[in-house]
Amino acid sequence: MKYAIVGFGTAGYHALKAIRTQDPKGEIDVYTNTSMPPYNPMLTTYYAVGKLEYEGMFPFGSLESIQKEFPFELHQEEAIKVHSEEHSVETANGQKEYDRILIATGARAFAPPVKGLKPENAYLMRTVEDAQRLKERLQQGDVKNAIVVGASMVGIKVVEVLQKQGINTWLLDLAPYIFPLAAYPQVAQVIQERVEQQGVHLKFSVTIDHMEEEDGQQIAVLTDGSRIPTDIVGLCIGTRTNTQVVDEKIALGKGIIVDQHMQTNVPGIYAAGDCCEGNNLENGQTQLIGLWANANRQGTTAGNNMAGQEMVYEGNILHNITRFMEMDFIGFGDNRIEGEVLEYGTLGKGMYIRLVLKDHRIAGANILDNCSISGIVKNYMLRLFGGDTGKLPVYQRAALESAGLSSAFLDELEGKIHGCH
Ligand SMILES: Cc1cc2nc3c(=O)[nH]c(=O)nc-3n(C[C@H](O)[C@H](O)[C@H](O)COP(=O)(O)OP(=O)(O)OC[C@H]3O[C@@H](n4cnc5c(N)ncnc54)[C@H](O)[C@@H]3O)c2cc1C
Repeated sequence: MKYAIVGFGTAGYHALKAIRTQDPKGEIDVYTNTSMPPYNPMLTTYYAVGKLEYEGMFPFGSLESIQKEFPFELHQEEAIKVHSEEHSVETANGQKEYDRILIATGARAFAPPVKGLKPENAYLMRTVEDAQRLKERLQQGDVKNAIVVGASMVGIKVVEVLQKQGINTWLLDLAPYIFPLAAYPQVAQVIQERVEQQGVHLKFSVTIDHMEEEDGQQIAVLTDGSRIPTDIVGLCIGTRTNTQVVDEKIALGKGIIVDQHMQTNVPGIYAAGDCCEGNNLENGQTQLIGLWANANRQGTTAGNNMAGQEMVYEGNILHNITRFMEMDFIGFGDNRIEGEVLEYGTLGKGMYIRLVLKDHRIAGANILDNCSISGIVKNYMLRLFGGDTGKLPVYQRAALESAGLSSAFLDELEGKIHGCH
């Protein structure tokens, strides 16, 4: 059997591992448009701020060590097109046919142009090169003021990098509060207060309209008319899927459409990771999920199915688990859904959890200042979305209690979820 993996991030790596495990003799070609081993984009900001060595961004080791463990042929060349009829991968050097092809090309940072912003002062954050570029600029020592646009998980990490360097930093977003896709407004408010206490300026419901220059200083003119001097601008507004490689026969939404086996509408052609849409178990719809663990599971699922070992990936819920500026924030599920609110702890004073309950399920959860309970809470949410009506297993309840949640709170939660079934 001949396999191609196009794109070698974490999804491509996990597919390689699964294929090689299932099919020790198969021929596997890996196409990558970088000279680096698969890296973890989440770690790039830690490298930029000097918290992590360069090698730390590559969780699976060097290309040589991966090749030794899971032998494959490396093609360090960009795939131009995956042709569905011919079942082939085209590069500048020609075209080669395969039995199974995986598209795992990920996503790229995207930002619309800002009028007047010089390219040398604009910083995106996704790749190792992005991190290197920011690190080098910070080492020059000429950045005194900075603006980051996008109060997302990525944006806050860039803010942290800048603030740690003693740079006067602004964080802006068109949304009314921080982490608009994950946080409840009350929780966002406390996070904002803490971020401000650490010296970062926040401004919401605005963005940069254009840049001007005044006496050699760059000035950001905001949509509310205010003017902020800034040397650099971090643009952490969003991502776009890398789907340019697919031909017109492969079904596309915002990402590549796949089934639960990670197969596209073209038999034998699969997709996994940030380039494809995943199933959101909360609403049953497919959508871009853009999470590390999701890419891993999708890659493993695709690889197994490609090699003939059936595996199903049912999907995930939206989740954000992030540590920044000495705090942990966790958001699960859809924060737009309204329902009965159940809280534990005092917001801003130690471990706090806010759950929104709807239809005997946990529609959304925010946890502040304790990441140890996140796995159990997510697992419980997933089981409820999957139709399981059982209560928390004894060992999970015990773990939540030993993390600090009271037995009365857990009784109340289980009572509300399971009470009227
Ligand atoms: C700063 C930052 C913070 C993040 N924080 C979190 C977090 O807290 N939690 C979380 O779960 N996730 C987080 N993520 C998201 C997470 O990193 C991604 O979901 C995950 O890395 C996706 O993996 P992937 O393999 O699908 O794609 P990628 O890592 O993008 O890998 C795709 C690879 O394919 C290559 N490629 C693209 N096109 C071609 C082509 N035509 N030919 C050959 N090669 C190609 C690319 O160069 C790349 O190497 C964060 C991301 C960033 C940038």
